[in-house]
Amino acid sequence: MIYLDHAATTAVAPQALEEMLPYFCGQYGNPSTMYSLGTGSKKAVNEAKRRLAGMLGAEMEEIYFTSGGTESDNWAIRGVAEGYAHKGRHIITTRIEHHGVLHPCEYLEKQGYRVTYLPVDSGGMISTEDLEAAICPDTILISVMFANNEVGTIQPIKEIGALAREKGILFHTDAVQAFGHLDINVQELGIDLLSASGHKINGPKGIGFLYVNKTVKLPALLRGGAQERGLRAGTENVPGIVGMAVAAGLWQDNRKKRQEHEKELQEYLFRRLTEEIPHCLVNGDRCRRLPGNVHVSFPGIEGESLLIMLDMKGICASSGSACTTGARKPSHVLLAMGLTEQEARGSLRLTLSWENTREELDEAVEAIKEIVGRLRTMSPDYSCYMKSLEKG
Ligand SMILES: *Cc1c(COP(=O)(O)O)cnc(C)c1O
Repeated sequence: MIYLDHAATTAVAPQALEEMLPYFCGQYGNPSTMYSLGTGSKKAVNEAKRRLAGMLGAEMEEIYFTSGGTESDNWAIRGVAEGYAHKGRHIITTRIEHHGVLHPCEYLEKQGYRVTYLPVDSGGMISTEDLEAAICPDTILISVMFANNEVGTIQPIKEIGALAREKGILFHTDAVQAFGHLDINVQELGIDLLSASGHKINGPKGIGFLYVNKTVKLPALLRGGAQERGLRAGTENVPGIVGMAVAAGLWQDNRKKRQEHEKELQEYLFRRLTEEIPHCLVNGDRCRRLPGNVHVSFPGIEGESLLIMLDMKGICASSGSACTTGARKPSHVLLAMGLTEQEARGSLRLTLSWENTREELDEAVEAIKEIVGRLRTMSPDYSCYMKSLEKG
């Protein structure tokens, strides 16, 4: 099997798994108890919190464990909306957010909030001028993702943070694709809330966290016990927390090496695909993008057919985001970037990791070349596309 879908999820790092295992059986105490079996778990949870906070330049009291990126996004957006409703009911976000951000925003619109969805350019970048122009006296929150999960575009987070600070507006960023992979300091970047998830960084699934600057007054998500300072009650997912922190630490310690390897593979793959397959369009910003993200379109084919045929050759890839694939709609991200429906439907996302090799990519390129060629010979869409190019 050749796994080229690391933006969808990743395998748990062996070291993270190993450090998680004791917390399932031997060291299973509830962190809220007084005896040493429980205090051992409490210590592990706090140690993980300290480690994650340290990576972000935050304090451990500013980290709240959640069940993952979606929960963190929901809590940040609905929490700020509820907690700051007395100040205003306007939120600014972008058209290319993950559904974990977009759907809570759409829900809030039904509750009487106003939401501005910023457009993006053809590379998937927002403009800070657009952002500034969208700010109103009643704007309470700006939510802009750190890096896009489909095309990997990295937004101008520092400029956005500075603008938010200047205007006294809270700034949330969905950093699920960026945390661990990129060096992030919430102080320097002016971030008030940040979402992260374990399973995108070789940690387990079902665990994530929300960083909340201590000056932010966020209402509780779950009421009950005193866990997470009373804001997210429920017995902690101790093994998950430990695994996520270990995995994050591995990213921090090896970031440069991993980034360089991913970047090299990324350039190699982009070059081979665009040089060897006719009419292969590159999607997303060529420079300001996550090192492991390769996103292209082959007009005239259906991305889904390509994925199924790649799967038969043992290659895992994606066309748009996983949820979009299920819904059989062209990706909202690609459409926002100005791709035609045809270009969006013929898209292919390959997300690489430091564990991939050139040999794997060679095999994938050969497979893609062959399949795209075969699908296009059978495609009336492709003939139309070629004719439209001739006409100019
Ligand atoms: C995967 C992802 C999420 C959702 O995280 P889960 O932990 O799977 O809920 C949110 N935002 C982005 C950008 C993602 O890539």
